[in-house]
Amino acid sequence: STIELQDLVQLGKIGSGNSGTVLKTLHVPDSRIIAKKSIPVENKPMVKNQLIRELSIMQNVKPHENIVGFFGAFYTASTTNEIVILMEYMDCGSLDKIMSTHKAFVKRGDPDIPENWFSEIVLAKISYAVLNGLSYLYRGYKIIHRDIKPSNVLINSKGCVKICDFGVSKKLINSIADTFVGTSTYMSPERIQGSVYTTKGDVWSLGLMIIELVTGEFPLGGHSDTPEGILDLLQRIVNEPPPKLPHGLQYSREMVDFVNRCCVKDERERSSLQELLCHDFIVKGRSQGDREFRHWCKRIKKRLKEDKMLKREENERAKLVK
Ligand code: ATP
Ligand code: MG
Repeated sequence: STIELQDLVQLGKIGSGNSGTVLKTLHVPDSRIIAKKSIPVENKPMVKNQLIRELSIMQNVKPHENIVGFFGAFYTASTTNEIVILMEYMDCGSLDKIMSTHKAFVKRGDPDIPENWFSEIVLAKISYAVLNGLSYLYRGYKIIHRDIKPSNVLINSKGCVKICDFGVSKKLINSIADTFVGTSTYMSPERIQGSVYTTKGDVWSLGLMIIELVTGEFPLGGHSDTPEGILDLLQRIVNEPPPKLPHGLQYSREMVDFVNRCCVKDERERSSLQELLCHDFIVKGRSQGDREFRHWCKRIKKRLKEDKMLKREENERAKLVK
């Protein structure tokens, strides 16, 4: 069942990042909703050929419960110079979107906000899914993700957690400088220092991501989008002690230990994917809380819908005031 671009109808924008734009799209023949990501690329033969090679790697990855489904990639050279990637639509969005929705409710003073938006069981399920997806990519295809962060971990209302956006090197899409701008950097110290990149780099990123989900803030502090600001952040990652979960929270010893094992600056001492998959935090998280997690996903879906409506109302009101 291959999908053809002419069978797609665009429904609306889901979001955009540094590299491209993601649209909600209807595949007319089977009335299925999919996500369509468009990435502008330079019209240079070398870049194009490399991209096509990389996209074919993605095409070969067999479906897995923790990898966002891939329905094909296109290179539309004739008119627009963009690559189009078709993938499974995840109706609860990405973790960054879930975080920002939560913040919006807090700001509105909503009385019905669960105090603990990312409970320990939710974090354990998310961590397991990320580790399991990463391990599948590496064991089966020797693919290292390299871009684990909240916006690349997606959730749906059935209770699935999947990773996306692996395989296509950023350096082909943007210049190196561009890829740093506008994002916090989840890059590990060894990567910044130019050492060989292994799956342990993704483990570092996972650790940072968990801290961010708990605190609501990127753990290594802000930076300005100037070359100096970015350089400063990179230097802090290399020179300062690794981030930790804040003290005084209600999380278990296992979870604190898990995060500490991810956030080890020396890659040789950092735990591997396989070690972490056997960690008590993960093992415990897998053995319980399935219903609670599915319930959480459903609630997220409801919140996203409400947020969208409220935003619309807020916009209308703002227009009237003008
Ligand atoms: P970057 O460009 O640095 O990777 P990003 O991951 O935020 O940043 P995109 O990958 O273009 O940028 O994604 C934009 C947004 O679209 C994401 O933040 C996510 O919320 C949403 N999104 C991406 N893919 C899907 C999908 N398959 N289903 C649902 N939402 C998606
Ligand atoms: Mg992304």
